[in-house]
Amino acid sequence: MKVIQIEAIPFRIPLKKASRWGAHGKRDAQDHVVVRITSESGKVGIGEAPARPSIYGETQRSIVHIVRDTIAPMLIGCDPLDRESYQDKLAAVPWNPTAKAAIDTALHDLAAQELGVNLARLLGGQLKPVEVSWMLSLNFNDDTEFVREAMDVRERYGIRAFKIKAGSDPAGDIRRMEMLRRALGDDALLFIDANQLYAPDVAIRTIRAMEHFGLAMAEEPVAVTLGSWRKKVADAIATPILADDSVFSLAEARRELQDGAIGVMGIKIARTGMYESMRIAHAAEAFGLPCWIGSQGVSGIGAVASAQFAAAFRSVTYPADLSTPLKQQDDLLAHPIDIRDGKLHVPDVPGAGAEIDADKLAMYRLDW
Ligand code: MG
Repeated sequence: MKVIQIEAIPFRIPLKKASRWGAHGKRDAQDHVVVRITSESGKVGIGEAPARPSIYGETQRSIVHIVRDTIAPMLIGCDPLDRESYQDKLAAVPWNPTAKAAIDTALHDLAAQELGVNLARLLGGQLKPVEVSWMLSLNFNDDTEFVREAMDVRERYGIRAFKIKAGSDPAGDIRRMEMLRRALGDDALLFIDANQLYAPDVAIRTIRAMEHFGLAMAEEPVAVTLGSWRKKVADAIATPILADDSVFSLAEARRELQDGAIGVMGIKIARTGMYESMRIAHAAEAFGLPCWIGSQGVSGIGAVASAQFAAAFRSVTYPADLSTPLKQQDDLLAHPIDIRDGKLHVPDVPGAGAEIDADKLAMYRLDW
């Protein structure tokens, strides 16, 4: 079972509405890269790399180039089931997290297809529908529009978990949290992502105020570079800190687990692939921490692969942030993403379950 071809294809799919987060983050389209890996049996494994220059320093072009020029020549001829061996080769390329994660995900998809099992089973678990959350970005005209979006999403898709982008307007963050809780009732799971923007004292004050309205998690409330201050913030609040920007790798996850500031481990398949994500989940479990699956705003391809991972591990206990495909004007999947009753339903077929529509890929691919 050998790999005979590795392709990196950039694509662009517009979002229905621009997404805004943090101090400067803004996107109006999915400018991502799809990785396709073909084996000698003709099967094709798929992965998705979301270019996020402001987070990982990778661009769509850098992802395409590192895959085509460096990674593909190293991995042609490798066996997708000989994971330790190809991981060794991938480890020789530093940084480039989403490029390598897409390669690793495509190889896992391929291995599962070759074995005739779904990816969750290959990972050691079982495929089941995965509860998802909806991210409320900072792009709304007023608080009413913000709350209406959440109500609409619950009505249309049954989603009851919401991640609220926050950080630059603490008083507004508390106000919106209260409005959302009153509108959605007690059974909604609400958490914030401050994208590291609160100062420590502001974080403590703001999060304590939000706790009156049932705050499930606080994602990166303060700068990840603050070291022991993060632990002081964690000790001063009742809400668990959700790790995201602080855990870009297994090494960082180990540091965070040892430092003891975080209460929930955030995992994004888009940056640590299947293999490293699995090791992070196991490390978290060893420290008694539950896991949350984020997405890095991937399209349908990345969302179904992430759902396979979320389904496979018992330590993943929070709703996964996998509803971004619903925010796109279109998708590359041959079968539209299936979110109902608040859950992402992934087809039970060999592999990750992401089948690309050739016409759509032709329509949305970028050829430089
Ligand atoms: Mg985040």
